[in-house]
Amino acid sequence: MENIKGKVVAITGASSGIGEGIARHLAELGAKVVLGARREDKLKQIANEITAAGGEAIYSILDVTSPEEVKAFAQLGVEKFGQLDVFVNNAGLMPLSMINGYKISEWHQMIDVNVKGVLHGIAAALPIFEANDSGQFINITSVGDRWVGPTSTVYSATKFAVRAISDGLRQEVSRNIRVTLVAPGPTESELPNTISDPELKDMAINLFRKDLLPASAIAKAVAFAISQPSDVDVNELVVRPTGQKNL
Ligand code: NDP
Repeated sequence: MENIKGKVVAITGASSGIGEGIARHLAELGAKVVLGARREDKLKQIANEITAAGGEAIYSILDVTSPEEVKAFAQLGVEKFGQLDVFVNNAGLMPLSMINGYKISEWHQMIDVNVKGVLHGIAAALPIFEANDSGQFINITSVGDRWVGPTSTVYSATKFAVRAISDGLRQEVSRNIRVTLVAPGPTESELPNTISDPELKDMAINLFRKDLLPASAIAKAVAFAISQPSDVDVNELVVRPTGQKNL
């Protein structure tokens, strides 16, 4: 695939699921990957496996709710690999619940990670991209960035927000900076573990998670967007399991 080899790609939420899949796939295609998340043991293992397979990977503990930590994370790519070409805003959580469950701390957590975390990623990487007049954001939303149903109200709101932020960003940045939104349907990952109500977790799995994409399907969509010539900006990719019709 063109335009990926040698690129430095920073990925938030790279310790499991989709972020891990993106890191492994891009490293196989020759990108230098910078992995960030809170679980160091997972990051270390994934980075070691990528390196053992002949790829280039480094990692850093990262909490995306801290703008300072996200800034240092974006700088790490520049410090260790000399540049930053792509920033993947992927970290997220999905503690589904009904509004009248009043799980206010979970609402706050989703807004802090899914929305403010993405804004922190933009604030960290955009100055680097602007200095080089080159770069690409990949923002991982969800089919919930255009669909809302009972229990997904706040989660979908965070993803609708990231879709709005992505399109505004696309229009504001220079002609040479790309903004890509990738909206996955249900995908194999640890995401359902963030649902605190066991009944809702079962319901979500039974209703929406019978057909699951492998994380590699989202990684391939990300690779497609990066691999385009620099004057081609793939703005939105929606990827669902073929059998998933009700989201
Ligand atoms: P996982 O739970 O497997 O991965 C979530 C990742 O986010 C983990 O690496 C986790 O790492 C990280 N994370 C969570 N909170 C923070 C934080 N405060 N700071 C840094 N990293 C954090 O789920 P997915 O891979 O599915 O989720 C990735 C993205 O994909 C999310 O944005 C999700 O909304 C989106 N998505 C997923 C779908 C699915 O069906 N799987 C469908 C549609 C969208 P750690 O705990 O180590 O910090």
